[in-house]
Amino acid sequence: MTINFNKYENGLVPAIIQDYSTRAVLMLGYMNQEAFNKTQETKRVTFFSRSKNRLWTKGESSGNFLELQDIQVDCDQDALLISVKPEGPTCHTGSDTCWNENNVSNFGFLSELERVITDRKTNQEEDTSYVASLFKGGINKIAQKVGEEAIEVVIEAKDENDSLFLNESADLLFHYLILLQAKGFRLKDVETILKARQK
Ligand code: AMP
Ligand code: ZN
Ligand code: ZN
Ligand code: ZN
Repeated sequence: MTINFNKYENGLVPAIIQDYSTRAVLMLGYMNQEAFNKTQETKRVTFFSRSKNRLWTKGESSGNFLELQDIQVDCDQDALLISVKPEGPTCHTGSDTCWNENNVSNFGFLSELERVITDRKTNQEEDTSYVASLFKGGINKIAQKVGEEAIEVVIEAKDENDSLFLNESADLLFHYLILLQAKGFRLKDVETILKARQK
């Protein structure tokens, strides 16, 4: 990998730090050749801190290290995109990211769908909306619908028809997202539990 550390007089290139699994942008730092080498050797992201005027391994005092996963250099070799597994909150304020966490779309299209569902939940008088009508029906009705879709998935799993199986899977996931929100939760809450089980 060629990186042009000499492009600017200070010998620094910006490094965008991205969460390996959620793809959220976590923070921005600067690296010189030495910081870059140390990052690759230790597998812990190390910057050159302009305020400290020395190498700074993120997490050195907080313990919230950034475990290196992957480094990409940009089209003209003067900026880095670094994928990491964060060992705790990345921002010194205690947030996961240095930017507004509400703007992070952890689950891509599913996050968009979650936002639409939230909108229907808050505007239940929308009488052309199927989702709004489900919310009006209450939690028991929604839970029952999830049960029905789950059974349909089980039935189609036994069959050879991939299209039917995938469509019932979509029905199940969709109604499950609605049930989560009817209970006041999001996919993120389930993810938190799954992540905790990994340790
Ligand atoms: P840490 O490297 O996590 O032990 O944090 C040490 C110090 O670095 C903090 O007290 C802050 O001054 C600074 N710092 C930590 N995280 C960030 C960040 N994401 N962006 C900018 N400065 C930070
Ligand atoms: Zn560039
Ligand atoms: Zn921050
Ligand atoms: Zn179905």
